[in-house]
Amino acid sequence: MQTIENYNFAGKKAFIRVDFNVPLNEQLEVTDSTRIRAAMPTLKKILSDGGSVIIGSHLGRPKSGAEDKFSLKHILPVVSELLGVSVQFANDCMGQEAIEKSVELKPGEALLLENLRFYAEEEGKPRGLPDDASDETKAEAKKEIKEKQKAFAHQLASYADVYVNDAFGTAHRAHASTALIADYFNENSKLFGYLMQNEIDAVEKVLKTSVKPVTAIIGGSKVSTKITIIKNLMTKIDNLLIVGGMAFTFSKAQGGKIGNSLCEDDMLDLANEILDEAQKSGVNIVLPNDTIAADKFAADANTQLCTDKNIPDSWMGLDLGPASIQAMSDVIKSSKTILWNGPAGVFEFEQFAHGSKALAEAIAEATANGAFSLIGGGDSVAAINKFNLADKVSYVSTGGGALLEFIEGQVLPGIKAIRGF
Ligand code: AMP
Repeated sequence: MQTIENYNFAGKKAFIRVDFNVPLNEQLEVTDSTRIRAAMPTLKKILSDGGSVIIGSHLGRPKSGAEDKFSLKHILPVVSELLGVSVQFANDCMGQEAIEKSVELKPGEALLLENLRFYAEEEGKPRGLPDDASDETKAEAKKEIKEKQKAFAHQLASYADVYVNDAFGTAHRAHASTALIADYFNENSKLFGYLMQNEIDAVEKVLKTSVKPVTAIIGGSKVSTKITIIKNLMTKIDNLLIVGGMAFTFSKAQGGKIGNSLCEDDMLDLANEILDEAQKSGVNIVLPNDTIAADKFAADANTQLCTDKNIPDSWMGLDLGPASIQAMSDVIKSSKTILWNGPAGVFEFEQFAHGSKALAEAIAEATANGAFSLIGGGDSVAAINKFNLADKVSYVSTGGGALLEFIEGQVLPGIKAIRGF
């Protein structure tokens, strides 16, 4: 398989799928360019080799064709500035303009195509069906869009000599430009960009080639959204630290009094099953044994320290207590591979951020001592950034849903399309 590092783009046109789905303010200006910056190493490598780039992305969730607020023209100045070249724009990713501009593209030049999701073909889902459409009509529409999707992917492919996927954020979607398009390039002409490669390498360092002891810290609000991850990790890790709101479902399952703390009552049996499974697999599960309880869900709530299994009625655990912080930090500091997904408390409120901050500091310390640490999944990324520790860990993932599905053990269509698995 080709790698971005070894591929020489001189004289080649590359179609690169990026994730430029950035937030815009009311004036339609980019408010956070992180995702655009994340694709720059790949774009710059192609241009500096003497290649040219045709950039494809989605922005937002347009549901009925072209909508100005989702136009990629709004981000063009930021892309040009960061790339250091004046990027051209095609007002439609299909059609004559896109064809002509891609044909005329010279080495060192870049062309940004209009939002791929202005076409239903990108996602391959029928649009505009009446709510009361019959199953037959729906099936017919689905068949029709799938056929059109192939033609759409084929046309995008026809603009370029080589396909580069650097859109990790959409790697879990089997869309035209993230997966299907790869069929129109031969083995040696499709590859991952740097961002995509880094994300894959980071996850595989945790799941496949990890150095022991391996510790996963799984937190956040709900057990139900993390079950598949926990099950997949069970055969791969030594320690599992369960934190955040989801820990209370485990406390209750074990007979604890959890007051008003977050709990999924339909997950109690499953929580016990996980504890049993961990024991059988030899995984050391660490649950909190104390908590900072609050009298309401608010930044200025009154608090008291409780044991995890004895929270007074109408109080709720919103953060780890000092004994839990100590025990968990010790495990983290003695680990050689660490995965953190989901905060340890309501870190958005200052007085309930201590647990997440302490764990983040322990991860930073372990990393300084040679451990590999991967932080991923929306809120833990927000937490590590809030504590200014992002540069003290090995890798902070840019993928939300894509990362979660990857660590659940699923094969991501955007990855499979290039490397076959
Ligand atoms: P998730 O999206 O499931 O990863 O959950 C992240 C959210 O869980 C964050 O917004 C946290 O504020 C919240 N959270 C963490 N710990 C608790 C807790 N003990 N009680 C309620 N919410 C929590």
